[in-house]
Amino acid sequence: MKIAPFNWRPYQLSIWLSQYFKPYCQLCHCRLSGSNILCTECHDSIYWLPSSKQVELIYQKNLTIQPISYYQYPVDKVIRNFKFHEDIQMIPILYHLIQQLPCPKNCHAENSVILAMPTTNQRMAKRGFDPLTILVPYLAKHWKIPIWRGVARIDNSISQRGLSKLERQENISGAFSVTDELAVKKVLIFDDIATTGASLQELANTLLQENPQLEIKAFCLAHGNLKSN
Ligand SMILES: [Zn+2]
Repeated sequence: MKIAPFNWRPYQLSIWLSQYFKPYCQLCHCRLSGSNILCTECHDSIYWLPSSKQVELIYQKNLTIQPISYYQYPVDKVIRNFKFHEDIQMIPILYHLIQQLPCPKNCHAENSVILAMPTTNQRMAKRGFDPLTILVPYLAKHWKIPIWRGVARIDNSISQRGLSKLERQENISGAFSVTDELAVKKVLIFDDIATTGASLQELANTLLQENPQLEIKAFCLAHGNLKSN
């Protein structure tokens, strides 16, 4: 089983800089007295840990998806600036978001791994970087659970944005393949935005087809569909 090391130093620099050399709120830029990333007002303006969502899986299982927040201001802007404009000044704020996610019960380095939603080579080539690859080490550090990179994404799906629930399910069908064996029973999937949960559902089903005994949970930075609540 290939476990990625906690290799997060290059981007850690932006967090150190924001915390120790720029004592300002990273959102509203008001002056801070401590080493916080956000001021109390900005922190309190974010809706933290909305109720989790459930999607159905094979073998009569369900997948629980726990979002850190909703895809609404300012979280949407932060994610967009990082994901589409590679704005590394967003990293401290995203790190602050990740820190709000409690480690799931009974999950630790001996029995669990974190799996970031894999991206396609096409998207990697187009965008030049994979936002989740940069963010997931912060979650690994926060939870003290290693990252597993044992799933590949096959390059035939298009972006899920703008598609209906059914279109998303069809588009993503067969998009993943397991490329490495897994030595633990719990997989904690991490994604940036979950809207209908179709990608997470397909990824979880792909894992279950390999090993029906797996316990899978999903987490995301933001839930993209406020209306479903
Ligand atoms: Zn602020």
